[in-house]
Amino acid sequence: MIVIKFGGTSVGNSQRVSNAIDIVSERREQKPIVVVSALAGVTNELVAATEAARASDSARVDEIIRAVRQRHEDVAIQLVQQKIDFFETFTRQLDKQIEQIHTILRGIALLGEITPRAKDKVVAIGEKLSSVLFAYSMMMRALPGEHVHSEDVVVTDNHFGEAAPLMGPTRENAQRVLIPLIERGRIPVMGGFIGRTEDGATTTLGRGGSDYSAAIVGAAVGADEIQIWTDVDGMMTCDPRLIPNARVIDHISYVEAAELAWFGAKVLHPKTIAPAVELGIPVRVVNTHNVTSPGTLVDADGGSHTHGPRAIAVKRSIAVVQMTANAMLGAHGFLARLFAIFEQLEVSVDLITTSEVSVSVTIDEKHNLAKLIEKLKPVADVEVLENQSIIAVVGRNLMKNTEVGARVFESLQGIDIAMFSLGTSGLNLSIVVNDSDADRAVKSVHRALFENAAVGAA
Ligand code: ASP
Ligand code: MG
Repeated sequence: MIVIKFGGTSVGNSQRVSNAIDIVSERREQKPIVVVSALAGVTNELVAATEAARASDSARVDEIIRAVRQRHEDVAIQLVQQKIDFFETFTRQLDKQIEQIHTILRGIALLGEITPRAKDKVVAIGEKLSSVLFAYSMMMRALPGEHVHSEDVVVTDNHFGEAAPLMGPTRENAQRVLIPLIERGRIPVMGGFIGRTEDGATTTLGRGGSDYSAAIVGAAVGADEIQIWTDVDGMMTCDPRLIPNARVIDHISYVEAAELAWFGAKVLHPKTIAPAVELGIPVRVVNTHNVTSPGTLVDADGGSHTHGPRAIAVKRSIAVVQMTANAMLGAHGFLARLFAIFEQLEVSVDLITTSEVSVSVTIDEKHNLAKLIEKLKPVADVEVLENQSIIAVVGRNLMKNTEVGARVFESLQGIDIAMFSLGTSGLNLSIVVNDSDADRAVKSVHRALFENAAVGAA
């Protein structure tokens, strides 16, 4: 069994849905379960509708909902119109969902308030519609697609807007609902992003949550592979918008992929693949617009590259906070005092370096710096550098080859380095530079590690 997940742009219009169905069809032998996102942009529109409702802007609400309805009808017309009964059943379901959205939005307008529960009910509609549409389009092509309500499978806690799966009951549902379908040669089609609490309320798993759904479903059925079909060739040695000759990474480990994501790579969020990681299920990132490209395989062992750099990520707009123990205070207990303050203010730290009496950390600039400094003042002399970027070189056993560090620092000649840190696990070599130097620095480091005579293996 495999899970095939399509992101919003992979089902953005009728042509793309058609291509996605080809992809499923070619993998029929592997017993796929299909998970789809909402059509590209629809979730944003639904969020905007809830906001317009709160502002009692009923004209805007109508405009948005009409456009959402039209968008789905247009795609359906292209895909299933020849089969008039499919089209009619689909539009009937479409109208029923639209009616439901209007009811909730009227409630929001009346209260002048969006409860997380009501919001989830509205935004979940994007995936409900895309999955029904996908299933009908498969049937249209005489493929055994069968729509399954995600709410009947994915059970979550009640953190509306950011729900977490309850794997026990989800596994039971998957065994009861999905497995018999697959055994009968059917292809279940589900919306991503959606779940249901044990007492029956619709929840969503957080923005971008369809990947999470794919991993949850994959873990629940014990899939052999989870495929994330998206609009890029896979994970790359760097953001290709920044580095046009960035290369696709063919095989990488879960830990390296997670490290990259924490430092700003957009492709896979560690939280979303956690259910797969737990069971060691491989996750493959593949491009719907370039089906012949093998993509990136992410799994426990990460392939034969046991050491060396794999990719570079950049995290911008961070601040470096340098703290030196002030005279009154011995170094004893210094770190504990400092970090108690970070904890109290819920400020999370990315990098840290220490010497005998001083500590430097990096934090996101969005945190309240003034407040942090005020609290730190009694304990330490504080200096803050704002507008900095972290350039993170990620790989395994990075220092096994001393040439890595040598090349990185050599390539940064002439650029001011505010801080650097080598993760003890050898997973991450991070350098902090000015935001204004970040692009130049990334280009130099990428060139030194991955281009010309590369020490990095992609
Ligand atoms: N449609 C949802 C979103 O836009 C979930 C997803 O696309 O993964 O956040
Ligand atoms: Mg999406």
